[in-house]
Amino acid sequence: MTSHTGTCLCGQVRFEYEPPSLWCAHCHCSLCQRAHGAALVTWVGVAQQRFRLAADSGLRWYRSSPDSERGFCGFCGSTLFFRSERWPGEIHIARSNIDGDIDMNPSAHVHCESQSAWFNFADALPRSEK
Ligand SMILES: [Zn+2]
Ligand SMILES: [Zn+2]
Repeated sequence: MTSHTGTCLCGQVRFEYEPPSLWCAHCHCSLCQRAHGAALVTWVGVAQQRFRLAADSGLRWYRSSPDSERGFCGFCGSTLFFRSERWPGEIHIARSNIDGDIDMNPSAHVHCESQSAWFNFADALPRSEK
C-alpha cells in the first residue's frame, strides 16, 4: 500500500506514514475535547518509525499532561499529533488531518466517561471508560 499523507490547515506542517496503521479510535477525554475544541477526537496510532514529516516549519509541541505531549501547527493552530510515555514508539495522528481514505476505520469509543452530553453518537462500536 502507498503512503498515507496529511497536513495542517495552512500546509506548513505536512507528514506521511507507511501503513499499516496500528489502530483507530474515537477519544472522548476532556483533554482532547479542550485541545481540539471538539466533542471528540478520532486518532490513528502509527509506529514512530513509519512516520515522517514532509514539512515541519510550523510544528510545535507542548506538554499536555505529565507524560504526554501534543503537536500543533504554530502558524494555523491545527492540532495534529499526540505522543506519550504510555505508548512508547507510537505517534497518534488526528484522523481529520490525514488525506482521504486510510487502511483502517475507527473501531471503538474510548474515555466515554467524559463524553459530551450535547453530542449524540449512535453507532454500534464498543465503548470504554479508558
Ligand atoms: Zn498550519
Ligand atoms: Zn483523548
